[in-house]
Amino acid sequence: MEGTALRGRLIWQLGEVVETRTETARARSLTLAVPGWPGHRPGQHVDLRLTAEDGYQAERSYSIASPPEERGKVMITVERLDDGEASPYLVDEVKLGDRLELRGPIGGYFVWEAQMGGPLLLVAGGSGIVPLMAMIRHRRAVASTVPARLLYSARSQDEVIYRDELDESARRDRRLDVIYTLTRSQPPGWAGYRRRIDGDLLREVAWPARDGPRAYICGPTQFVETAAAGLVSLGYDPARVKTERFGPTGGG
Ligand SMILES: Cc1cc2nc3c(=O)[nH]c(=O)nc-3n(C[C@H](O)[C@H](O)[C@H](O)COP(=O)(O)OP(=O)(O)OC[C@H]3O[C@@H](n4cnc5c(N)ncnc54)[C@H](O)[C@@H]3O)c2cc1C
Repeated sequence: MEGTALRGRLIWQLGEVVETRTETARARSLTLAVPGWPGHRPGQHVDLRLTAEDGYQAERSYSIASPPEERGKVMITVERLDDGEASPYLVDEVKLGDRLELRGPIGGYFVWEAQMGGPLLLVAGGSGIVPLMAMIRHRRAVASTVPARLLYSARSQDEVIYRDELDESARRDRRLDVIYTLTRSQPPGWAGYRRRIDGDLLREVAWPARDGPRAYICGPTQFVETAAAGLVSLGYDPARVKTERFGPTGGG
């Protein structure tokens, strides 16, 4: 965990919602303009603090989806958990012009910047795509030629967040591969993967260990653990396999 002391030193700031975008039936992006935002690194997150009319407060962490190159702005993408406290409000109720309390940026471990090199392997489960998208957007913003490969596990094609942007980015950039596995349902004629990520799937998709890749895995806890163990058993250097866990169980 990042030091609590460090988190304590960060101050709460107000961000104004300047753009909202529906990404899927369950996920929405909110772009916050944050005056005096100190800037962030791709992979970092913020804490949001929501206060109800009766004073009840809830704090939740959200990864930053926007690249550092979009100065003064913080985009988050939230997936609704129907029985959740914070996410239904953020996905369904927040409006343009609302102000949200946030602090950050937080985290220095799960970070990739172009000068760190690659090849880069990104492994996403569900909304775990969010911090990896910040890395992909940063790589594009600085015109990096580091070879990059994204393996993204989603339940169905409709649940793939940022699908158009990912497909377009892969089409325009020979050095970026985007590979989906759709674990619950597939569109007619789907020729891609359809199973949960396992050792065999990683062996087929991941860069060979001898190339010295850097891997970033993000998603539900169980997903992250399976993928990390799979990469290490393929010979990946554990120090170069970085993980971020979003939640308790399930997903993918
Ligand atoms: C570093 C970090 C970054 C994160 N980034 C994002 C992000 O970019 N986008 C995003 O949508 N979420 C992200 N999360 C998860 C987020 O912080 C919340 O946990 C999530 O939005 C659920 O909050 P809630 O108040 O709606 O649900 P809660 O009221 O907290 O929980 C409702 C129910 O859902 C379960 N649950 C809680 N979280 C999850 C989860 N992630 N997956 C499955 N079940 C869960 C709980 O056990 C409970 O049963 C991140 C978490 C961390 C730690």
